Amino acid sequence: MALVVQKYGGTSVADAERIRAVADHVARTRRGGEDVVVVVSAMGKTTDGLIRLAEDVSAVQPGRELDMLLTAGERISMALVCMALAELGVAAASFTGSQAGIITDEVHTKAKILEVRGDRLREALARGVVPVVAGFQGVSAARDVTTLGRGGSDTTAVALAAALAADRCEIYTDVTGVFTADPRIVPRARRLPRVSFEEMLEISATGGRVLILRSVEFARNHHVPLEVRSSFTWEPGTWVLEEDPTMEQATVSAVTSDTSEVKLTITGVPDRPGIAASLFRALADASVNVDMIVQNTSHDGTTDISFTVPRTERSVAVGIAEGLSPKIDAAAVLVDDGVAQVSVVGAGMKTNPGVTATMFEALAAAQINIQMISTSPIRISCVVDAGSADDAVRILHQAFGLEGAAPRA
Ligand code: ASP
Ligand code: MG
Repeated sequence: MALVVQKYGGTSVADAERIRAVADHVARTRRGGEDVVVVVSAMGKTTDGLIRLAEDVSAVQPGRELDMLLTAGERISMALVCMALAELGVAAASFTGSQAGIITDEVHTKAKILEVRGDRLREALARGVVPVVAGFQGVSAARDVTTLGRGGSDTTAVALAAALAADRCEIYTDVTGVFTADPRIVPRARRLPRVSFEEMLEISATGGRVLILRSVEFARNHHVPLEVRSSFTWEPGTWVLEEDPTMEQATVSAVTSDTSEVKLTITGVPDRPGIAASLFRALADASVNVDMIVQNTSHDGTTDISFTVPRTERSVAVGIAEGLSPKIDAAAVLVDDGVAQVSVVGAGMKTNPGVTATMFEALAAAQINIQMISTSPIRISCVVDAGSADDAVRILHQAFGLEGAAPRA
């Protein structure tokens, strides 16, 4: 029998009615002859609410305790989904991340999955019981409850699909798939019927909000086909699959933007071996996720190093940069909070020259200044002023001819 992992995000289980709709869909999938493992997020904005509560209670939130608090959200969903399934006559049992055997490292609030045991899920499946697993959580070797970082339920779902050798992993959300751009910014964005793992990685890494990056990495590494679908319309969504060598790749598939990062610049950095290494080692040791890095060649023995980090890691990064700057004889540390990254992604870029020129020309025509540039074989990203980000997305979406025939309703 085929096995499918179905993950339901926060909006898909936001209230009693949504939970019953999810249970109904699970029941229908079972009747269609497939085995199902369900992974749930916390209801609606529960996780945000719990974080606010913690902040109201205390300025100090030890990671272990924050994780204990946040994992409660997914527990509520999993129990309620099981109850809704019981009413439909479907045998189901809920499992916390720990009970499901999701073993992580000990980095609280952003733990990485080290191993998925999944024995209890296999036993449940063998008994004809639908396992409903709390997403976003695991247990460390020290036997403490951990969370996988915001949006981590996607990762739980894909990791389980890989460990249980599921035939596919369906990610249910409040949008109907992956779009050529965020439809809230570009109303005429189109849903992509399929994207490759490589493209999806770039889309997730550059601000596409549909799938969390780690889950796409997992899916690619373990060859788990993903389908992103809506739990409101249940229509076919976007498949995320291995690149199809027989199909011609779109030069540009999607335009993304990301305002979640800040830019740091260390000026007057002596141009000698080991300086960048000491800076980025210190940032890495503090688990700061550095994204874009630009260093100029020096003319007078010193150079500027600019890099971007998640806004949530701003204070740690600034602390490290300011601490290091006198030691390396740098001039100053500058922080820019008003930046955004806009990116174009497409597998066909590899074989089609001129994408960079088109991108720069389109931005230039709109008087949008480019502050930093980075590229991969299938992506070009520019850091621009945050106030221009939405315009930049609209302009690039048009410049690369991505519009649909008519505005989406
Ligand atoms: N509930 C968690 C969050 O809001 C995990 C998830 O939804 O994937 O980030
Ligand atoms: Mg999510």
